[in-house]
Amino acid sequence: ATPTAVMVGTGLGASHGVLIKGGQALESTHKVNCVVFDKTGTLTMGKPVVVYTKLLKTMEPQHFYELVAATEVNSEHPLAKAIVEHAKTFWEEGDKSIWPEARDFVSVPGHGVKAMVRHREILIGNKSLMLQHDMIIPEDAESILAQAEKLAQTGILVSFDQEVTGVFAISDPLKPGVREVISILKSMEVMSIMVTGDNLGTAESVAKEVGIETVIAEANPEQKAEKVKDLQASGYTVAMVGDGINDSPALVVADVGMAIGAGTEIAIEAADIVLMKSNLEDVITAIDLSRKTFRRIR
Ligand code: ADP
Ligand code: MG
Repeated sequence: ATPTAVMVGTGLGASHGVLIKGGQALESTHKVNCVVFDKTGTLTMGKPVVVYTKLLKTMEPQHFYELVAATEVNSEHPLAKAIVEHAKTFWEEGDKSIWPEARDFVSVPGHGVKAMVRHREILIGNKSLMLQHDMIIPEDAESILAQAEKLAQTGILVSFDQEVTGVFAISDPLKPGVREVISILKSMEVMSIMVTGDNLGTAESVAKEVGIETVIAEANPEQKAEKVKDLQASGYTVAMVGDGINDSPALVVADVGMAIGAGTEIAIEAADIVLMKSNLEDVITAIDLSRKTFRRIR
């Protein structure tokens, strides 16, 4: 393609809300034959809502939610926001801005968070976070987790001082049209894969709903990037689509990193292309545009 064609291509992209950072990005995109999608915030709305809660010990709900919210208020994770929103419903309007102080807050990427609140050690996250801390997972918690996974929801465990005290089931609806996007990509001979930090059961339920056959679950940021490298080693030209800090290593190693416009600053910086409308159809727009630009003139 001539420099003019590339300029026209990037210009057209911009007019569709597809921000292409330079000619190289546009060129690489026409060879893409595999798209790796992050799940949360990419295939899903990224606006999760707590749909089910179970306290496993006898205690005041307000006491439970106060410790939980005090911990999660320190996290940027969409699941944390959902949990804090839910906790607020246990207080009167205007009465809810003051959570106790959390000390030694740590976020364990891909697993959850921990902090000390009111001299108790609070852990909130997935099963593997609890297992890492030698926690015993009660039978009833296990069955709630299994049920949540079947429903494509994310199950989250809460522990106070080495004891599992509660379970949340959190639902994050799919973005509209995801199934169609995956099917159109297939017709363009582009394979779709999902990578996620979420657990395998939930990930597989979501993948089934959208028509994705290959799923890598419970992946940390480095493992997401490793998966991209594996695909490249198998001869694929890979586009990675993601929204989070946890996607940025994969966005960087991919042949084309595509960030969701509504995603985090770090993902947007790491990407070659930004989908300003946060719309997955624009993955197709980008590939189409690049194919048109680079296949016309040879
Ligand atoms: P994804 O790849 O789907 O965006 P993440 O890697 O961000 O997911 O998170 C993976 C998992 O870690 C979540 O599904 C959740 O179980 C747990 N997790 C991460 N952060 C938090 C948090 N702040 N509170 C509770 N659980 C969390
Ligand atoms: Mg995400």
